[in-house]
Amino acid sequence: MPRTLDPQLKRALAERIRFYNELGIYDFYRQEPRSSDDSGPTQPEMREEMPRKSAVAVLEEAGMFVPAKPEASVSDPIEALRMIREDIGDCTRCRLHKQGRKQIVFGVGNPNADLMFIGEAPGADEDEQGEPFVGRAGQLLNNMIKAMGLRREDVYIANIIKCRPPGNRTPERDECDTCSPFLMRQIEVIKPKAIVALGAVAAKTLLAINAPMSEFRGRWYDFRGTKLAVTYHPAFLLRDPRQKKETWKDLQMVMRELGLPMPSKGVE
Ligand code: URA
Repeated sequence: MPRTLDPQLKRALAERIRFYNELGIYDFYRQEPRSSDDSGPTQPEMREEMPRKSAVAVLEEAGMFVPAKPEASVSDPIEALRMIREDIGDCTRCRLHKQGRKQIVFGVGNPNADLMFIGEAPGADEDEQGEPFVGRAGQLLNNMIKAMGLRREDVYIANIIKCRPPGNRTPERDECDTCSPFLMRQIEVIKPKAIVALGAVAAKTLLAINAPMSEFRGRWYDFRGTKLAVTYHPAFLLRDPRQKKETWKDLQMVMRELGLPMPSKGVE
């Protein structure tokens, strides 16, 4: 039975959908009510994706026009990524656009990658060059990728946010919330077999879990149907190289999952 909506509510809903679309958000989620005996978030978090068909169906049943993501009709991932980049434009959606960022750092690598690395935010070198992980932390990430028997161009590399925060401060929650829908769309286009979240900011944002690194590591998470592992951020490893051994364990777990041959050497 088609639902009828009060015209005022319908207008308000249409306005709200347009607002979200302008922010790059095209998917809608339902927060499941938590029962009183829930003992806390382990994962996959309580945030359950509303089956897209029924979310759209409910709105369409009510006579709402729900626009698809611009890239939805495109099968070529290069073109789809280009459309997402175009949608971002010269972004002014959060305060970072007026806090000294030189350019948007979109992401780089193989649009068909099996493996995706997600860091926190561009630093000075990335802001200068427009590419993620090109500074000292990037050199170490390159070594990690090489240790796995892969090349940088085999994987896809991106960050939770696409603009450099002033003084390389940690991104604020609202900056992550504003920017990450575009990353979600990149992930949907690339469809990696596995994602590695580099550091706590990436892990917390992607998994919506507030936990220390020690609790994040060493296991697989389900991220919207894709396997996600967490390891140390390369910038942290530059400060504490003893943790490279632990990082290598995390990367070996990823290699096993991807069926990559296991070399004997670790991360240098
Ligand atoms: N640190 C990050 O998290 N991302 C980069 O791109 C560079 C450094």
